[in-house]
Order: sequence, then C-alpha cells, then structure tokens
Amino acid sequence: MDDVRASVLSTIGNTPLVKLNRTGCRNIEIYVKLEYYSPGFSIKDRIAIGMIEDAERKGILKKGDTVIGKTSGNTGIGLAIACAVKGYKFITVMSAGNSMEKTVMLKALGAEVVLVPQQPGEGPYVVSRKDNEAVEKKTDELTEELHAYRPNQYINPVNYLIHEYTTGSEIIKQSDGNIDAFVAFVGTGGTFVGISSALKKFRKDIKCYPVEPDSAQFLAGKQVITTRHKIQGGGHAVKPPYWDESLVDGYLSVTDDEAIDTARHLASKEGIFPGFSGGANVAAAMKLDKTMDRGSIVVTVLPDSGLKYLSSDLYKF
Ligand code: PMP
Repeated sequence: MDDVRASVLSTIGNTPLVKLNRTGCRNIEIYVKLEYYSPGFSIKDRIAIGMIEDAERKGILKKGDTVIGKTSGNTGIGLAIACAVKGYKFITVMSAGNSMEKTVMLKALGAEVVLVPQQPGEGPYVVSRKDNEAVEKKTDELTEELHAYRPNQYINPVNYLIHEYTTGSEIIKQSDGNIDAFVAFVGTGGTFVGISSALKKFRKDIKCYPVEPDSAQFLAGKQVITTRHKIQGGGHAVKPPYWDESLVDGYLSVTDDEAIDTARHLASKEGIFPGFSGGANVAAAMKLDKTMDRGSIVVTVLPDSGLKYLSSDLYKF
C-alpha cells in the first residue's frame, strides 16, 4: 500500500503539462496544463479545497456547518467534492445559463442546486453580466437566511494564492523554468493573478496576458459590446478585486468561433478534449505566434473538460 491516496482530495492538482504538436504555429511552442485531470474535472478543485481547509484552520468552518457557493459550476463541483468527503452540507447557486452537465454532476455529488432563472432576453448556454448579478443577489440572500459559510472565490485571496503556490509552481517545475509567456482567460482572475505572480517572481521577463471575449474586452479598457458570449466561466466585464495590473504585459481576446474551432482542433488533432475556455486559451496563445521569437514557449491551462458541455454546441457539427 505504498501508492494509495487517503481520500480523493489528495488527487487534486499535480496535473500534466502537455506539448501541443499540431498547432501550425511557426515560431512558438504551446504547452497546456490539463486541469481536467482533477477529480471534479476542472482547475477549480484546487481553490475549492484550498478555501475549505483555510476556513477550517481559521475556525470559521466547523462540523455540522452549511457551505454555500455561487459558481458557474466548476467551483461548485470542487466544493461539493470537498464537502462530501468532509461531511458538510453544500448548497450551490448558479445561473440556469450554465450547462446542465454541471447541474447533474453537482446533484450526484450530493449538492443542493439552486438554479437562478435567466434574466429576460438572455439565452441558454450564455451567462451574461445581468445573469451573474442575479445569481450574486440570490447567493447573498441565502447565505444570510441559512447562516451558511460562503467561501467567496471573488474576494477570497486563497483563490489566487492557491494558484501561485500550486499551479504556478508546478508549471515552473514541470517546464524547468523554460517559459516565455503565459495566457489565461479571466473569470474571478484567480488563475491569471496567481500563476502570473508565481511566474513573475521566478523570472520578471515572463510575459503574462489575460484573455477576454472579443465582445467584452473590459480589462483591456475597450468598450464592452456584449457579455453574451459562449465562453463559460468568465468574461463578465467585472474587475476582480485583487486584479494586479503590474502582472499584465498586454491583453488578448478571442471570439466564440475561435474558441470553439480551437477546442475542436485540439480534440480531433491532439486527442485533448477541453471546454470553451480551454479552446479560448489556446486560440489566444496561438495569436502570440506572430510577435514572439522562434522557439518561444507559451504556457496556458485547459480549465475543464469538453464532457461538461456535451449538450451545448461546442462539439456539435
Ligand atoms: N474557465 C472555466 C471553465 C471556469 O469555470 C473558470 C472559473 N469560473 C475560468 C475559466 C476562469 O478562471 P478564474 O476564475 O480563475 O479566472
């Protein structure tokens, strides 16, 4: 019994970093961190267990407590796993615009799912800023009513610190520090801020680029045309509270079609099956091919799996 984990929680993180071989890029090499290898099949397992154990250490979360989370699904799935293993009741509040695969999985993991109907005019598989605000309001109300503990990923510094200490340092170790640039799609900003902090502390000249939907280049300071894009998990045109401009070397954006086409390309040509934001991240990384020197290494993350979007049009041809 020398290679056994004490519980599924010990299988979170330490995900593989994989070279892409069929990008068609002339100058750069792209490496992707396959975050769907974690038990909840997303990068958010890392912050879920991080926030729960931080609250336990601080005495904020105690046996018998209820945990509540506002999520686009993935953080909820991570929290549901952590709460199932540790014995907390878990309620997740999410927009009906998120894919039903996440809802099904959350329920299977023992979570109570509160679905907030979409706002008038908003469509399925799209979570707009208005939808996001409605979910926030509902979560606030329920947290107060139930005296629940809310590990709020939007303001909890554990969100980015976990990425600095785990995802970021794993990338440095796995690549032997051979990295020239990093790109990441921004939701709460935890992934971008945490990993970029680790990389910049390691070597100041590693370039870091946040990724936004083409129609909502809010952080880049451009006019937001619409937050009704398909890249679930971010692009809500809000500035994360711990956003750190000094980490940013430039902004990248991708259209829905670029994200989808790239996800399909990864699936059919590289055997890698990402969600929308993974497609967006690689599409954005590929844009650096035009400006970076030959042999440059660009790293990004694939936040979750295409299996979470089977009912959407991501892989419907
Ligand atoms: N992609 C997906 C699928 C996500 O669920 C999230 C998180 N909501 C992100 C990207 C963005 O990550 P972060 O919140 O760390 O910016």
